[in-house]
Amino acid sequence: MSTLYRPEMLFVDGAFQQNCELLAGDDGVVEAIGKGLQASPAQTVDLPGKAIVPGAVNVHSHAFQRLIRGKSESRRTSGKDFWSWRGTMYHAAASLSPEDLFDVARMAFLEMALAGITTVGEFHYLHNAPNGKPYEDSTLLSRQVIEAAESAGIRIVLLRAAYFQSGYQLPSDPGQVRFFETLDAYLNTTEQLVTAYSKMPSNVRIGVAPHSIRAVPIKEFRTIVEWARARQLPIHTHLSEQTAENTACIREYGLTPAGLMAREQILGTDFTAVHAIHLTEPEIGLVADAGSTICSCPTTERNLGDGIVTADVAMRRGVRFALGSDSQAQIDPWEDSRELDYHLRLEHQQRAVLDDIEGQGLAQRLFDCATVNGARSLGIPAGELKPGNYADFFTVDLKDVSLTGHSPASLLPMLVFTLSRPAIRDVVAGGRVIVSNGRHEQQEEIVARYNELYERVWNDRSPA
Ligand SMILES: [Zn+2]
Repeated sequence: MSTLYRPEMLFVDGAFQQNCELLAGDDGVVEAIGKGLQASPAQTVDLPGKAIVPGAVNVHSHAFQRLIRGKSESRRTSGKDFWSWRGTMYHAAASLSPEDLFDVARMAFLEMALAGITTVGEFHYLHNAPNGKPYEDSTLLSRQVIEAAESAGIRIVLLRAAYFQSGYQLPSDPGQVRFFETLDAYLNTTEQLVTAYSKMPSNVRIGVAPHSIRAVPIKEFRTIVEWARARQLPIHTHLSEQTAENTACIREYGLTPAGLMAREQILGTDFTAVHAIHLTEPEIGLVADAGSTICSCPTTERNLGDGIVTADVAMRRGVRFALGSDSQAQIDPWEDSRELDYHLRLEHQQRAVLDDIEGQGLAQRLFDCATVNGARSLGIPAGELKPGNYADFFTVDLKDVSLTGHSPASLLPMLVFTLSRPAIRDVVAGGRVIVSNGRHEQQEEIVARYNELYERVWNDRSPA
């Protein structure tokens, strides 16, 4: 049966509109939006005092890294830079059984749902058993993560990562044995997943993610990209998060990662460069000319001390930005969106740096990064509410103190710059209500199982 939602306000066509209704079909897709909608048979859900907002799209997540939250904020345990932080992350990765991975992923996805995220792009690179041997079913860990998202009720695009080497001419790092595959094994397993989840409609889609140019040699990188393009799958990779990546790539190939991607015709509208912090202006031009997306992860990037993405330069060149929670240091797409501008404010000692680019206002621009641009990067019809798109949205309590004083015109900047989590009341993904009145339908069970796992990994340290 269809469901007719009647909120006080609804965000549609770039503005909050009063007394606008949304009709969602039983297939989880928006049927109609407008005033005075009639539909029968349909159940009606009245939402007085609430606004409906399109669900956020979290384009870059490593769900299992939720486990290291709170365990990597000291130099004694995690060193002073990204590379030593990786050691703590690898400890978490080494100890997880398939069931543990399901539990930690569900915890991350629960937290995403509570933050208003209805789609996750999960950049998944745990493939093997802890001893480095492939599981009998090589899709096992990918499916554990997919099933965690299905259980938590959020849409997932599993960006299956290829990780073939530790670096250029480097011996294999024992901390990475769960990541390594051959090219053939990677393509085989990914094909199995594509076939399994290709039926429509589905809350699951598959994409490819050569981890980075240091982890996938350029020849194999190109093969994966060609393979993905033949199947119209999204292509994501980590690119220039650290200056050391650029230096090593120049030594190996005589070009920076972005220069190499351009030369090899890997950049394209289906390509998303994750981070892209240390790019020169000409390199940003290459990304812009190709129509590629940059996925920025500001809450993680500031946590790791990666640097500040030059979003002002890139957006002026026409690059679209999406956002990701990446290491799960914090899961809050609205914080990520506002940080994109706030970091530049601190750097330039100016306000509203990303305002009025190509005539677009700042709040709308940042909101698009968290919604439509993310959906485009993942290749799914979501991120805005219109007929034919998924009925993915959340409601905000218009009486929440963080929104007091709003008007239809000021609600969007308030949402982007000040929304606090208690204001997020209900979350609907594909027409399914997964959060009601600020509580997820399986919250107690997911949290209890996660607590058990956390104890085991950090206190007991017994092998999984
Ligand atoms: Zn990442």
